[in-house]
Amino acid sequence: MTPIKFEIQATNGEARAGILTTRRGVIETPVFMPVGTAGTVKGIRFEELESEDLDAKIILGNTYHLWLRPGIDVIKSAGGLHRFTSWDRALLTDSGGFQVWSLGALRKISEEGTEFRSHLDGSLRFLSPEISMEVQAALGSDIVMVFDECAPGAAGHEETERSLNLTARWAKRSKVAFDQLQSAGADTGRREIDGLSGAQALFGIVQGAGHLDLRRISLEQTVEIGFDGYAIGGLSVGEEKSLMFEVIGDIAPRMPKNAPRYLMGVGTPEDLVEAVARGVDMFDCVLPTRNGRTGQAFTSRGKLNIKNAKWINDQRPLDQVCRCSVCKRHSRAYLRHLYIAGEMLASILLTHHNLAFFLDTMRGLRQSIRSGDFPKFRREFTERLGANGE
Ligand SMILES: [Zn+2]
Repeated sequence: MTPIKFEIQATNGEARAGILTTRRGVIETPVFMPVGTAGTVKGIRFEELESEDLDAKIILGNTYHLWLRPGIDVIKSAGGLHRFTSWDRALLTDSGGFQVWSLGALRKISEEGTEFRSHLDGSLRFLSPEISMEVQAALGSDIVMVFDECAPGAAGHEETERSLNLTARWAKRSKVAFDQLQSAGADTGRREIDGLSGAQALFGIVQGAGHLDLRRISLEQTVEIGFDGYAIGGLSVGEEKSLMFEVIGDIAPRMPKNAPRYLMGVGTPEDLVEAVARGVDMFDCVLPTRNGRTGQAFTSRGKLNIKNAKWINDQRPLDQVCRCSVCKRHSRAYLRHLYIAGEMLASILLTHHNLAFFLDTMRGLRQSIRSGDFPKFRREFTERLGANGE
């Protein structure tokens, strides 16, 4: 038996609508996963994430952050991350590789793993495939990511090749360690469900920066090892958008048809639609929550900066077609006032609306793929985004 099941139910061009069954619930794809970095999706209560308004079926947890603070012993003694946070729906954890790359200072990469200084207290830490798997087993997430090395977007061919070969060796070690931990009962999130193995699922990651030949090699290497799902990593890290879509357009359709395809750390609403058009099933990104805290709202008519003086007496909701509780109740004028006054409710309300918009966009995408109207949805959605909130 397998830890997850994935079934494609409709396609429209390369776009796919499917059902991902995990030990913590059934997830319709394409799906957006809100990012819960430190055991919380910043600025929003779990009740809201579970509410009909948002109805997020899966969220992300960051291994790097949780490992450094509060530390694995605290989470283990609570019985795993689900119990610690009281989130009983599906959880995906990343491997920590990306955060070591983007946050850790003084990285020293060796065959064994990565030595770096904690961004919290400067202490010297070491992360390897084995340690990452051990931490993710203790967290008990439902989907585990292999520990990889992320080459910079602008990395040359030779550097990228070296990096993806290391990633392939680390992926093998991740899988060996993962299997041992599963048989040793280290997974705190184990749950017996009819038809599933009850174990964690493990996803491999395709690297290769902007080099298509290396991306294809990395895909072959990753598929050869064999995983429950496959991710495209190392995109949206500063490369040109056109290059990002060239990579996705080339690689996603070559990924195994019967496994979920996950594009890590992407992106804006238009990125999601464009990646779905190229065959991607899963996404995560900090944009809706992070931008909510800095006063930026995503709407069906483009991005809107709530600080802007032009909203001072605007009695319209953030988005006139949004059905979220914030748009039902509050005006741009009020939200602007809260933001300017430094009220924490501004961040909370903007975060809520932004997540509602992202999750609603995914609902619209899924429906349009099922009804065969995806090209129309894509065209109209993209056109409307140019309106600057008006
Ligand atoms: Zn709204």
